[in-house]
Amino acid sequence: MELWFKEIDESKSGLTFLVKNVLLSKQTPYQRLDVLETDFYGNVLILDGAVQITQKDEFVYHEMLAHVPLYTHPSPRKVLIIGGGDGGTVREVVKHPEVEHVDLVEIDEAVIEASKTYFPEVSRELDNPKLTILAMDGIEYIKSIKNHYDVILIDSTDPIGPAKGLIAATFYRDAFEALTDNGVISVQAESPFYYPEWVSKIFHNLAGIFPVTKLYLSFTPTYPGGLWTFGFASKGLDPVHNFDPARVPSDAAFKYYTPELHKAAFQLPAFVHELCDGARSY
Ligand code: SAM
Repeated sequence: MELWFKEIDESKSGLTFLVKNVLLSKQTPYQRLDVLETDFYGNVLILDGAVQITQKDEFVYHEMLAHVPLYTHPSPRKVLIIGGGDGGTVREVVKHPEVEHVDLVEIDEAVIEASKTYFPEVSRELDNPKLTILAMDGIEYIKSIKNHYDVILIDSTDPIGPAKGLIAATFYRDAFEALTDNGVISVQAESPFYYPEWVSKIFHNLAGIFPVTKLYLSFTPTYPGGLWTFGFASKGLDPVHNFDPARVPSDAAFKYYTPELHKAAFQLPAFVHELCDGARSY
């Protein structure tokens, strides 16, 4: 008998694929965690029924979340990642030789363990000596940090459950305080087709605190609707005008990110632009 995974949300539409094997299925203190083996997508990490990463397309999200802010900041030395226990964002961040230290604050240690076992390519830098892993709530962690990080990356689940507060204005205020004077932040900002309210809320909450706020886009087949937004915000650096393409090594082995795409990603379709109420975000 065939086993089909379906991710169906309130819209009564979604993603489906054939499952070859169930590699892991457990309830952690925070969420339901499943790892499925498939022919087309390879291994797939699922939290509370929502696809987080697949071996086939994870590079898109991780490269765009990390490299856009890291190539915008002229000298990113200290980096904070909240969420991201699979290690994909860490893998991209440590490709930047200027980065001296990375803190990864992941609430659920079970995600880290599952990634180490079933996603060796994604988790391969989780033992990097530049990395400190803290198993705790990122919302609590950031409250006590002032003027410390050059770059903050929010690599979270959908803003429900433990991740709900990660899109709140109070959290973005704390992130502003945790950043250095030249600091930048990128956040995963949801699907403009499926969750336009979340996209709009994330943009406006960031824009209420940071002088520079822009949305940018990428395409991930296994995220709802494929088209995905990220929020970029900073204390002054502009991700297009302050970006120097010459900083990207010509032999960089990226699979999605390119200097041209860095700039193009900020060109928004009209309906996404409207989610920012016409605020200039390109
Ligand atoms: N690429 C993914 C996506 O957008 O679908 C994100 C993947 S990563 C696995 C998300 C992680 O955020 C999860 O492992 C989850 O445990 C973690 N997380 C959720 N809320 C958190 C919080 N408040 N503090 C720290 N980590 C959190």
